[in-house]
Amino acid sequence: EERVVIVGGGLAGLRAGERLRELGFGGELMILSAERHKPYHRPALSKEVITGELNPRELGFKISDEMEATWRLGVPAESLDTGRRVVGLPGGEEVRYDGLIIATGVESRHMPGAPRQDQRVHVLRTVDDAIAIRNSIASTQGLVVVIGGGLIGCEIAASVRGMGRDVAIINRGNTLLGGATGKEIGEYVTETHRAKGTRLAMGVKILHWMRQANGIAIHLSDGQVLFAAVVVLAVGSVPSISWLRGSGLVLEDGVMCETSTHVVGGTDVVACGDVARWPNLRFGGVQRRVEHWLNAVEMGRAAAENLLVGRESSRPYTPVPRFWTEQYGMRIQGAGLASLATDTTTLSQPTGDHRTITGFIKDGKLVAMVALDSPGALIRLSPQLFQQNTVNRPDRQETLTQHLQR
Ligand code: FAD
Repeated sequence: EERVVIVGGGLAGLRAGERLRELGFGGELMILSAERHKPYHRPALSKEVITGELNPRELGFKISDEMEATWRLGVPAESLDTGRRVVGLPGGEEVRYDGLIIATGVESRHMPGAPRQDQRVHVLRTVDDAIAIRNSIASTQGLVVVIGGGLIGCEIAASVRGMGRDVAIINRGNTLLGGATGKEIGEYVTETHRAKGTRLAMGVKILHWMRQANGIAIHLSDGQVLFAAVVVLAVGSVPSISWLRGSGLVLEDGVMCETSTHVVGGTDVVACGDVARWPNLRFGGVQRRVEHWLNAVEMGRAAAENLLVGRESSRPYTPVPRFWTEQYGMRIQGAGLASLATDTTTLSQPTGDHRTITGFIKDGKLVAMVALDSPGALIRLSPQLFQQNTVNRPDRQETLTQHLQR
């Protein structure tokens, strides 16, 4: 019997497995995951789980029995041999595959110099991390310091502040969210956090940390010292690829894929979700990883399709990436690749209103847009993003359906 192994039991792995079955894959499906939990909704961790509005037990995705997968939870893959087609597991066990889907996501970046192995210092990636942060906050009255003013850092800060606790954000740049949303929306978000009473230490570096019995003193480059009862590091993430070292796959900020999600340097191996880096033909073939929820869904499905039809008949994966974030009731939605832009412009702003849409421009083309509290903007403007960024190589003539019918 043919066996497809999915390494990584997150959203991308789950959606890939479901898609294999939808397309009629009748072989064995095995899902290996380092975490002890079946796939769950990670975006809620920094939002309703931190605040306690949502019980972590309610986070899991509904998984249909029809998926008929063998789940091996708490079992991290340790190595890959693409020649012999085996995944190495702890204790020397090996699992053979005919097809392999790499979906190991990312892990939180640690900060050089930050105390490790200190119960008061956290990162946030897993539900276990979120529970630890909640417990840590509940066991003290003191200041909660979030390091990093990106999407996840801002969400955590807003959630904790919303619980009435003292919060500070330490950020290297002078506006929150930085490049993700553009300056105008970034500044509005920064002012909102400030107005809600969050202490903002902006444009600073951390000089050193001093661990004390009742807190951690964080010395900043502008002379301030913050005394933290709890610290949450939200300084980005790194792809979970250590298990692939020595496999012959190309590892460069993620697992390098071809346009079709087949990995470079392997046969019958595809990758998807946060861990995968690929050239997106819609944006001139720029290579990117995309760490957004919807990409895990779309790329998981595309990877499964392309694994089944084989490299030759595969179609390039050419999405317009999309994300959302929520803080203090503000809803920000984005689409496209903002990092490509050389210029921004305001696409629409009702007078006297904070709602706005920022367009990101490159060579006169709209390459991305970010909307603040403008539901519907994404739907209205997405066609422009698709039209102005056409795939610069014709899709393979044969569609997946045609192939399956053959
Ligand atoms: P993951 O969900 O990370 O799953 C990967 C799985 O692989 C993990 O379970 C991991 O333990 C496992 N694994 C790792 N290494 C191994 C190994 N060697 N062997 C076996 N298993 C392994 N996106 C948005 O668009 N909007 C949001 O509002 C938003 N909020 C977020 C909030 C938080 C706190 C976080 C952490 C993420 C958020 N995201 C958001 C991003 C979104 O959740 C991710 O893009 C998505 O989860 C990626 O799915 P994935 O399956 O690629 O990776």
